[in-house]
Amino acid sequence: MAMADTNTQGMTVSDEVAIEIKNMNKWYGQFHVLRDIDLTVQRGERIVICGPSGSGKSTLIRCINALEEHQQGSIVVDGVPLSSDLKNIDKIRSEVGMCFQHFNLFPHLTIMENCTLAPIWVRKIPKKEAEETAMHFLEKVKIPEQADKYPGQLSGGQQQRVAIARSLCMRPRIMLFDEPTSALDPEMIKEVLDTMIQLAEEGMTMLCVTHEMGFARQVANRVIFMDAGQIVEQNAPEPFFTDPQNERTKLFLSQIL
Ligand code: ADP
Ligand code: MG
Repeated sequence: MAMADTNTQGMTVSDEVAIEIKNMNKWYGQFHVLRDIDLTVQRGERIVICGPSGSGKSTLIRCINALEEHQQGSIVVDGVPLSSDLKNIDKIRSEVGMCFQHFNLFPHLTIMENCTLAPIWVRKIPKKEAEETAMHFLEKVKIPEQADKYPGQLSGGQQQRVAIARSLCMRPRIMLFDEPTSALDPEMIKEVLDTMIQLAEEGMTMLCVTHEMGFARQVANRVIFMDAGQIVEQNAPEPFFTDPQNERTKLFLSQIL
């Protein structure tokens, strides 16, 4: 395992640790869903997590954001230990943006209102400033003209880009993506991936659960393969795809590539 210091695209990875997970275990009742997870993410890293359905990818992502509790081991995000202390959880959630398969936009609010709700009410940012920030990010995801529409009036790809813009409005230092394109029609996948590529190029620390292997090759500096609640293998994209070591990785790749 090498790679934190190198990448194929000349995007920078710093020495600073963004996320440190040590010997983490999680159970759902009796079911041991995550086993002995060790994972250190440097600032600026772009990690793709793949693996079969049910392997624990979503659970891992949700633990990092304290949407799920872990029972053993430690998770430290931006130097803040994820404990049951609500203050810490609030701090971590404000540093970490999350984008899901289903966009979870508020259907009764406009795109602009979706993007300004949390900044105004959680961050206490003045409305005008929050709207300027929202416009900035809506321009970045290339849909400023949709600001006054409602989510139901937008395509799936546009809604997902709004969801990304909405996360960015909270100024996160880390972005977590959980299969952001898997509910989209094929023609909309590219526009969402392009947005994610742009974020990566700007240096965002990203953990992406995705089976978009073209994206992984282009953007990731590290690909992680999970199976049955464990990190089974990880490597830079090129060796990961061309020379997987573990039998389970080989089987998985033979099924999806
Ligand atoms: P993946 O995202 O890799 O498909 P998940 O993290 O969603 O996997 O789920 C891992 C395993 O945990 C699956 O077997 C799933 O059925 C189970 N699981 C997920 N969420 C819950 C829950 N809230 N309660 C009990 N079991 C769950
Ligand atoms: Mg999942």
